[in-house]
Amino acid sequence: MKIRKINLIYFKIGIGKKNMESSENLNLNFIVDYNMSLFYIVNCWSKWDIDVNESYYNYFKENLSFNEEDDEFLKKFAAIRIQNKIGWDSESELASWASHNFPSHEKFDLFKPILNHFESKTYRNGENFGNFLKREVDKLETLKLQKEYEDLDAQDLIRKLCLLNPEYKNLKSVNCYLVYGIDKGSGGAGANGGDMIVEISPIAGDAVVKDTASKLVHEYIHIAVCIKKRLLNEEKTKDKFNIPFPGFEGRNLADLFEELFAYSVCNTLIDHYDASKKIEKYSQYKQQIYREAYFWWSHVDEFGESLKDFINGKTNPEECLNILIEKYLSYLSISNR
Ligand SMILES: [Zn+2]
Repeated sequence: MKIRKINLIYFKIGIGKKNMESSENLNLNFIVDYNMSLFYIVNCWSKWDIDVNESYYNYFKENLSFNEEDDEFLKKFAAIRIQNKIGWDSESELASWASHNFPSHEKFDLFKPILNHFESKTYRNGENFGNFLKREVDKLETLKLQKEYEDLDAQDLIRKLCLLNPEYKNLKSVNCYLVYGIDKGSGGAGANGGDMIVEISPIAGDAVVKDTASKLVHEYIHIAVCIKKRLLNEEKTKDKFNIPFPGFEGRNLADLFEELFAYSVCNTLIDHYDASKKIEKYSQYKQQIYREAYFWWSHVDEFGESLKDFINGKTNPEECLNILIEKYLSYLSISNR
């Protein structure tokens, strides 16, 4: 196995202020790791699921002159994920496995020959792909994403919002894996299995790094606060929230509640976009994803005001959640009219 392990960087973000009870154990660790980027890229090339970022394949297709043998390897990669039921819930475990230099693992070891094959391919400049990627991943460290994140002052805020989640006392750290991104703008981000994976291009400018930091906050809220889990677990809310959101395929009321929650936190307490511009933008599209966006941008400010009251100590966690639920249900009856 030629795969090298480089640059496993752990940053711990400071301990929260003591003036309000909060989930103090919750930390965010930024990890930049060559192995993780290699795994992530090959995983995307394999298109094992429709939700992977398929643009990686086209981006590298020419530069690495993919041939039939390569496509066979990628098919095999996809088959390993599917046959061994290594689904989206395994993303965090896979990321940890990769960034710990691929320790022996009953199922994951099957990926090793495939990673090895692609690592030794030749990139268009004549360089070995592994060396090319190593150099690019090194650059990710210079992007100051952690600094941007810290400047948003979000860590303390998220710790407080975790009080809305009864499991907050058990929360410890969340890893944020930064992987080689190909988009010039801010790339994809996902939170599956307890940690985050964020794509970022080594040539990202300051504006993109900033955008990525706020995207990261949004994903972090999904992981740490995970308000939908509470709504679906508790007796008094589960029946109300475990029903399909009207007109949104595959999404229930709890899913959209959590999305509105995450957007409201970012917009009201951190980013302060002009919601009316977003409403205007999304009102013209018919696809589900834009109609969703239209829904939350229409309510993001008002919903966010209640979150602000909670953060400022005007309401306690239970009061806040009740107010949010009431508001949300009223938005639904308005949109149904
Ligand atoms: Zn989201």
